[in-house]
Amino acid sequence: MTAVLLFRDDACLRHCEATVTGINDKGGILLDRTVFYATAGGQPGDKGTLTWDGGAVAIATTVYDGAKDVVHVPAEGSALPGIGSQVRLALDWPNRHRNMRAHTLMHLLCASVPFPVTGGAIGEDGGRIDFDIPEGRIPDKAELTATLNRLVTEDHPVSFRWITDEEMAANQHLIRTMSVKPPVGTGSVRLVMIGEDGKVDLQPCGGTHLASTAAIGPVAVAKIENKGKINRRIRVVFQ
Ligand SMILES: [Zn+2]
Repeated sequence: MTAVLLFRDDACLRHCEATVTGINDKGGILLDRTVFYATAGGQPGDKGTLTWDGGAVAIATTVYDGAKDVVHVPAEGSALPGIGSQVRLALDWPNRHRNMRAHTLMHLLCASVPFPVTGGAIGEDGGRIDFDIPEGRIPDKAELTATLNRLVTEDHPVSFRWITDEEMAANQHLIRTMSVKPPVGTGSVRLVMIGEDGKVDLQPCGGTHLASTAAIGPVAVAKIENKGKINRRIRVVFQ
C-alpha cells in the first residue's frame, strides 16, 4: 500500500496525522498518508517536520522510491519514529506556497507559448520551461511578460477533473510535455483546468496549484535562451 496523497484533493492542507508504515534502508520514512509532495515534474519535494510522542524530526525533502511510494527524507543524524507509530506531519508552508505560485505560473507560461514543451523546473525565484520554438517565432520578452501578468491579475480559478486512463488515451493532444508522461496506470488521471472549463489552460498534472491565479503576484520574463537548434529556455521570475 502506497501513501494516500492528501494534497491531490486539497493542496492547502498544511498538516495531517499519519501512521508509520516503514523505514527504508536509507532511513527514509514511509507513511499511510501524507500532505508532502514528492519531487516530480520539475517541482521540488516538500520540507517540514514530523513529530510523535517523545520525538521530532526535520524532513529535508520528499521523494518517490522505486515502488512509487512517498519517502520523507529526514535531516541527517535524526532519531526516527518506530514502525506503527502515530505521527503528525507539518509542511514548511511558505516553501510549499512559493512552489505552488511558481508551479501555477508555469501552467500560464505553457498556455502562453504554443509550442511543444521538452522540460521544465521551478526554483525559489520562479521557474523555467524549455520549448521547441522554430526560428522567427520566438516570443518578445516584454509582450510575454504582459500576457503573463494579465493572466495573473484576471484571477482565473484553478479546478480539477478526474478522467479515466481510456479518456486520457483518447485525448493525447492534452499532453504538452513530451518528456513527462502523465501518471497513468492507476485507472484515473487528474486534469488541471485554469479558467472556466480550462479556457486558459487544460492539461493532466499531479502537482500542487493555487486556487486561483492572482496569488502568483507580479512576474517578469527574465531570459529567453538558446539551448539547442530549436530548443529555447524561457525563465520567468517573481517581481
Ligand atoms: Zn500542474
